[in-house]
Amino acid sequence: MINTQLTLPSLSQTMDKKLAISIVGNFSKPSKMPCYGFSISAKYCKTGQKLRKVPGSVCSKCYALKGRYSFAKVRNALERRFAGMSNPRWAEAMAFLVGKMEKSGYFRFFDSGDLADVDSLDKIVKVCRLNPGISFWLPTREYSIVASWVSANGAFPSNLTVRLSSMMLDGAPPVSIAARLGVHTSSVMTEDFTCPAPKQGGKCGDCRACWDKAVANVGYKKH
Ligand code: SF4
Repeated sequence: MINTQLTLPSLSQTMDKKLAISIVGNFSKPSKMPCYGFSISAKYCKTGQKLRKVPGSVCSKCYALKGRYSFAKVRNALERRFAGMSNPRWAEAMAFLVGKMEKSGYFRFFDSGDLADVDSLDKIVKVCRLNPGISFWLPTREYSIVASWVSANGAFPSNLTVRLSSMMLDGAPPVSIAARLGVHTSSVMTEDFTCPAPKQGGKCGDCRACWDKAVANVGYKKH
């Protein structure tokens, strides 16, 4: 359990970049995004594992189980990051590394993979609290993990935007659950998608809607 009195400067006394990378692994760098990300293998997605067998679900077309994600080098990096999350110093190492490396002011969790449990969400919240100058985006289909965390702790930090992702392609986003939990949503759509990336070379460009709490739902184009 991370010391709640810790600050980023005080972390520098007990953490360095080499040690932090040995615990966390290297960050991912999604080509679309303006920032680094943190990803683990999609094979560990709890809800995703069930959804993959459901025709028409977002996970039945999971991009994170094919293409470059199937290369041995990428697979090994994803496994290493997953194992690192069990390290008792993961939150400290992650907070240090984000503070040291992320210059864009933004960071994305889980460009592949999802929350494993309430403890992993708690560690992520601590990483966000230790980096108040950075905006974090956490997309997840683990609604019950988010609900358990909110029930025990209340609101998420202002610099963390949690988006409950829809389960089905062209399905309605889970707005009522999100409203009850004080979080946001995202969905995957054939038409009327709001994410501008497909119209701007597959890049975010100046858009930061995913991190923006004023944007209730982000609709991504179905691939
Ligand atoms: S909505 Fe904006 S920030 Fe989110 S993925 Fe699309 S382009 Fe990037």
